[in-house]
Amino acid sequence: MIDIKTGILGLIGYPIEHSLSPLLHNMAIKKYDLNYVYLPFAVEPGNVKQALMGLKALNFRGVNVTIPYKEKVIPYLDEMDSLAEKIGAVNTIVNENGILKGYNTDITGLKRMIEVDGNTTIKNKKALIIGAGGAAKAAVFALCLGGIKEIAIINRTAKRADEIAKIVKQYYDSVKLVTGSLDTDLYKHLLTDIDLVIDTTPVGMAPKADVAPVIELDGIKKSTLVIDLVYNPAKTTILKEAEKRNAETMNGLNMLLYQGAESFKIWTGIDINTKMWYNYILKLKKL
Ligand code: NAP
Repeated sequence: MIDIKTGILGLIGYPIEHSLSPLLHNMAIKKYDLNYVYLPFAVEPGNVKQALMGLKALNFRGVNVTIPYKEKVIPYLDEMDSLAEKIGAVNTIVNENGILKGYNTDITGLKRMIEVDGNTTIKNKKALIIGAGGAAKAAVFALCLGGIKEIAIINRTAKRADEIAKIVKQYYDSVKLVTGSLDTDLYKHLLTDIDLVIDTTPVGMAPKADVAPVIELDGIKKSTLVIDLVYNPAKTTILKEAEKRNAETMNGLNMLLYQGAESFKIWTGIDINTKMWYNYILKLKKL
């Protein structure tokens, strides 16, 4: 029941129709019998500052931030968690008595997914990241936090891979970084000796699921874990190709659930059982 004490949570982005966050958070609010509500807000470009000021004025408890505002909200925050500051992207904002603080739970969500669901350690491993957008940046930081030894970042626009490497080097100078384009000669050679491949591109995402993967996986080791951050469809073409070569595979659904759970904890202090969300999504047939 909504009353005078109801805490307001939400999502800001543009567009936001694709998001599962309102369903997931409102389900958790109900399940844990909390006095909050989570609402979607499609904030038009040009209104980001007003939206952030509105959070304070209307005494929101917090919001998630999605595409394309993860970087654009930063100038209007009062404080930043150190990880969010390093990466320069925020997906969660909490309002502590008029002080807006930004966090990035994508990074820790992915790290948790690799370590828990991948049942593996990141420490001293070698990884190949495909793509160099926001999700790639979060992936590189997740791996560095986990103590990775080497990362190769390859992207259609090689310059963007260089830019990520430049940022990462400021904080993790012991990690060996290689960057390049989607040049077969470069990555074919890498694949024979890599422990982890993370595809951070939207290639293969519904509704355009029936497309060739961004890279060919010939030569990949059997023990390699191939992750696609896309979770709709559950098995993208790169994961199917990896399975054909007996590699381990995982999609990005648990990353989504873990980042949401961490945001929820920041706002409410409650630790969510993410299996409950997983089963809920399957039941709703949302994916
Ligand atoms: P982004 O910032 O727009 O970056 C997209 C990246 O993919 C860029 O490096 C781009 O290359 C590359 N790319 C796009 N189309 C390509 C194509 N046809 N061939 C080769 N490369 C292509 O997007 P993002 O925020 O990083 O998100 C990327 C994907 O990750 C989305 O599908 C998103 O849903 C998913 N994601 C999942 C989670 C999760 O919780 N599971 C979290 C975040 C993101 P250029 O630089 O050359 O343009």
